[in-house]
Amino acid sequence: MLKLPSSITLCEVGLRDGLQNEDTLLTTEQKLELLRGLIDAGFSVIEVGSFMHPKRVPQMADTDQLFKELGDVPGVELRALIPNLRGVKRAVECGCRKVKLNVSASRMHNLKNLNMTPEQSVAGFADCVKMAHDNNIVISGSISMPFGSPWEGRIPQEQVDSIIEAYMNVGITEISLSDASGMAVPSQVNEICSHVREKYPENTWWLHFHNTRGLGIANIMAAMEAGMTRFDSSFGGLGGCPFVPGAAGNVCTEDVLHLCEESGIETGVDIVKLIALSRSLRTLLNHGMESYILRAGRSRDLIASQAK
Ligand code: ZN
Repeated sequence: MLKLPSSITLCEVGLRDGLQNEDTLLTTEQKLELLRGLIDAGFSVIEVGSFMHPKRVPQMADTDQLFKELGDVPGVELRALIPNLRGVKRAVECGCRKVKLNVSASRMHNLKNLNMTPEQSVAGFADCVKMAHDNNIVISGSISMPFGSPWEGRIPQEQVDSIIEAYMNVGITEISLSDASGMAVPSQVNEICSHVREKYPENTWWLHFHNTRGLGIANIMAAMEAGMTRFDSSFGGLGGCPFVPGAAGNVCTEDVLHLCEESGIETGVDIVKLIALSRSLRTLLNHGMESYILRAGRSRDLIASQAK
């Protein structure tokens, strides 16, 4: 029998990971409407946007405005991705209370882009941690491509561990493992998740899977089997990755919700409300969605309609 948790927490990342890959720029008002819909559907964690340079990621230019408009929402953690100290400053100014840094597990990628090892990048985040703590902002970190990178393939686990330890050294213990390259496979996910939980039991873990090779849901199951309970997902399966050829979106939120609903795993999210919201993305973004549930509906709705 599968060992599955009784409940999990989903972070909806469609507004960040999803929209940053779209050609259509949504207005701040449209994003706010989606955000209010997500809050109403019951998400307790939402990635609102990122504080990247607006010239580099124009889709995220209004993230500050979104935080100002939303203010504090009781019971909901609204988080933003940040590149560096400037990101923390913007978070302080707009009232964002939760930020997430990122580093690539690929040595080659990091050396080529930043001329630093991943550990040096993370050590450089110490000033971000200080400013965040001074301003009562919770700061977390993510490691992208720990399951494999397009440049060197599998990353030795010691190298991933050494990045985790670099994060812990600067005081970050909430860490996301992000399969941006879509190279993770379930057996490996199960192994790595079991390993990090056992080796660093004090840390809080998130998993972030892309569905590039159709393994997103299977990887979530494999991580749940290893005791993981926090996952990023994206409504409508929005998303991609500019560095990775053929990258698909994040694992689709309504597909995960459906899996959980049918398996007796609590998420706190109303799947019917989320499906309606995902459906609205087709019109807003003017294309179809990578979502099994939008295409086929829930299995329980099918059974109900057959019985009529
Ligand atoms: Zn991603």
